[in-house]
Amino acid sequence: SIDNEFGGARTTPGWRARLCGDEAEFWPHTTPSKRRETGRAAPFQDTQNKPTMTEVALERALSGLKVSSSDGNGKVDAQQQQQQGASAEKPLRKWSLSDFDIGKPLGNGKFGKVYLAREKKSHFIVALKVLYKSQLSKAGVEHQLRREIEIQAHLRHPNVLRLYGYFHDATRIYLILEFAAKGELYKSLQKAPGKCFDEKRSAKYIKSLAGALQYCHKKHVIHRDIKPENLLLDMKGEVKIADFGWSV
Ligand code: ATP
Ligand code: MG
Repeated sequence: SIDNEFGGARTTPGWRARLCGDEAEFWPHTTPSKRRETGRAAPFQDTQNKPTMTEVALERALSGLKVSSSDGNGKVDAQQQQQQGASAEKPLRKWSLSDFDIGKPLGNGKFGKVYLAREKKSHFIVALKVLYKSQLSKAGVEHQLRREIEIQAHLRHPNVLRLYGYFHDATRIYLILEFAAKGELYKSLQKAPGKCFDEKRSAKYIKSLAGALQYCHKKHVIHRDIKPENLLLDMKGEVKIADFGWSV
C-alpha cells in the first residue's frame, strides 16, 4: 500500500492553509482563532517572478533533507543542523504541512496539484506538489512515485529541478520542489512568434538540456518523458528538467 511505501505511520496536520488563487498571498498555517490573533499574513509580493530568497539561503534552509517523511519525533531544526556543520551524513529534516505557507496553484498534475509555497522559518520559496494517496493507489503507481522521489532527490545539476524532500499525511503526499518561476517551456513556446523559438534561444535550451541529460545518464538515470511540458524555466530563464515520474 501507499503507506507501506512511505513509512507506515500517519500524521494528520490538516489542510488549513488557505489557497488564495491568483493573488499569491500566503496565510499562516494556524487555526482560524489563532489567525484572528495574529492577523492575516503579510501579502507576499511578486511571488511569480521574484522569490526573495537566494540560492544560498535555499541550500541552507532545505539542504540535508534527503528523502524524509513527516512522521516520527525529533524534528531537527535548521539551527541545530548548522551547528552540526557540513558533516558527510547530514541529519534528516522532518517536514510537515505546518512548516509551509501555501500560495497560488502553479499547475495541475495527474494525481493532484502543484502549489507555490513558502517555508515559514526561512521564507524560502518552493513548489509543493500535492498527490492524493487514493488516486495513486487506484492507479497502482506507488512504485512509480517512489522511484520519482528516490531518483530526483539524488540528482544535483543546475538544469535538473531539485527535489528537496517529501512528507505525507493521511490522504496526501507532498513533494518539496525547487520553484520554477517562469513555468513550463511549453507555454513559452506557445507564446513565441510562430510558436517557435529563435535559433539563439533554442541553442541555449538544447545546450542546457544536453548537459543535464549527460549528467543523468552518467548517473544511470533515464528520464523517459522529455517534452516541453516537463521542462520548466526558473526566474532567470534557465531550463530545468522536471517530472521524473517515468524515470528509471
Ligand atoms: P503530468 O503527468 O500531467 O505531467 P504530473 O503529475 O507529473 O503531471 P508535473 O508535471 O510535475 O505533474 O506538474 C504539473 C504542472 O505544475 C507542470 O506542468 C507545471 O506547470 C507546474 N509545476 C510543476 N512543478 C513546478 C515547479 N517546480 N515550479 C513551477 N511550476 C511547477
Ligand atoms: Mg508533467
